[in-house]
Amino acid sequence: MSEWQAIAGLKIAIDGPSGSGKGTVAKLLAQEIGLTVLDTGLLYRLTAAVALDQGLDLKDELAVAAMVNDMLANLTWSSAGIRYQDEEWADRLRTEAVGAAASTVAAMPKVREGLLSLQQQLACAGCIMDGRDIGTVVLADAPAKFFLTASIRERARRRWTQLKGLGHADDLDAVLLDLKKRDQRDRERQHAPLVQAVDAIAIDSTTLRVDEVVDRMLGILARRELIKAVL
Ligand code: C5P
Repeated sequence: MSEWQAIAGLKIAIDGPSGSGKGTVAKLLAQEIGLTVLDTGLLYRLTAAVALDQGLDLKDELAVAAMVNDMLANLTWSSAGIRYQDEEWADRLRTEAVGAAASTVAAMPKVREGLLSLQQQLACAGCIMDGRDIGTVVLADAPAKFFLTASIRERARRRWTQLKGLGHADDLDAVLLDLKKRDQRDRERQHAPLVQAVDAIAIDSTTLRVDEVVDRMLGILARRELIKAVL
């Protein structure tokens, strides 16, 4: 049994750039406090992968947004991953190519609007949600928001290790360059860019272990009485 329990319906937003560790931290924190975790990046990755499968032009916002509406009818998204047309997609979405395509479709307002209500509906029961615009847009009312960062070198090293583990080995410098381009697209887009919410707490994880980041978060949540010790 975990030592902590989240208060009923607690929503926690974790945002940050790629490789900042938010996915790993979110999973560990979720286990510690008994919440589910939802990775919103999977929705944008699936959108890009299905659009590419269907031969759509990734710059055609109307076509991609129309595809999103159809996609939502055949989609199950949960802490276990993402199922589309009765198949599990999460593993095949983890490549850098899909990540880059995801950041292209994610810049389109109509695509983001199409994906917004599903995210908000699923968060109602309480969850930890990670992404780029969770604290600023999707769960702007969340009582706890974190913004995770790390140096670009460290983020590239982590991403490279992760990709190698999945069998998608690439050159570290190539991964670093891809990250820089993706960061720039995510930070500079007009609609829902990657930015720290004014009420988010920033944590730089460059020199911290995952458990140290999680401990900091637990301390903050406990001080705010959003989690309670379970005896
Ligand atoms: O987090 P992940 O690397 O899986 O996200 C892939 C891309 O999806 C990001 O680079 C970003 O462009 C987009 N994204 C987004 N908003 C979110 C989550 C992901 O724009 N909430």
